[in-house]
Amino acid sequence: MKTYIVGNWKLNFTVGEASIYLHKLLRKTSNYRGIEVVVAPSAIALQPLSLQIDRHKMKLCAQNAFYRDYGAFTGEVSFSQLRGLVDYAIVGHSERRYILGENDKMIAKKIAAAIRNKIRPILCIGETESERAFGETADVIRDQLTGGLSEVADDDIDKVMIAYEPVWAISSVKGAKLAGPDEIAEAVKIIREVLTNIYGAESAKAVPVLFGGSVSSSNAGAYLTVPGVNGLLIGGASLILSEFTDIIEVAKRVKE
Ligand code: PEP
Repeated sequence: MKTYIVGNWKLNFTVGEASIYLHKLLRKTSNYRGIEVVVAPSAIALQPLSLQIDRHKMKLCAQNAFYRDYGAFTGEVSFSQLRGLVDYAIVGHSERRYILGENDKMIAKKIAAAIRNKIRPILCIGETESERAFGETADVIRDQLTGGLSEVADDDIDKVMIAYEPVWAISSVKGAKLAGPDEIAEAVKIIREVLTNIYGAESAKAVPVLFGGSVSSSNAGAYLTVPGVNGLLIGGASLILSEFTDIIEVAKRVKE
């Protein structure tokens, strides 16, 4: 399986800044065999950046989109409008769940809409600090995974990626802590168990599972060698060109 290195720029960079960053990133990046580099700019930058990006080197990802294809939904951008512009879409990020009120039902519809529009969804799941403290981590993972995948047919599970992002490890969360390799391995094991129960062992094995949470060039190697982890979803560090390119280099070395 490929290793996926996904940079989530969140609400950062103007369109001009995003374009300059992408220009520099493209110059510093080769076409790495076995590594898929993906960047997720703001929605407004997707169209111009889709014309600029070299798809042999990296792919474009939406941070979110709406589950209906068209209609009276003021302010929304649909997966059908993004079709052809992006290859991936982040769905169910914790910031959307906890700041913008997205629930598993909406997330399930978004996953279905992405697949319908030939965009590969990256379903984000993960427990909060208090859920972990109350021993609810496994239940949260199971609920978010089964909820988010509730509209995904057996034949379509190979089009989905999962990102395990414990909310307490995300760098912008107050008091964020680094997740330990054992904690991640345990969560990934539960994710594969749930996938196996729903889709069977063979399909479950083929679903890429990424880790996200305060990833930097200094811990990327450790996280990429956690059993069952197939890549990284990177927020803060993806905004720093040298950090992001160093993480890609680490991924290359781990792969070799
Ligand atoms: C994220 O929000 O998806 C994320 C992983 O952020 P950070 O790398 O900044 O913790």
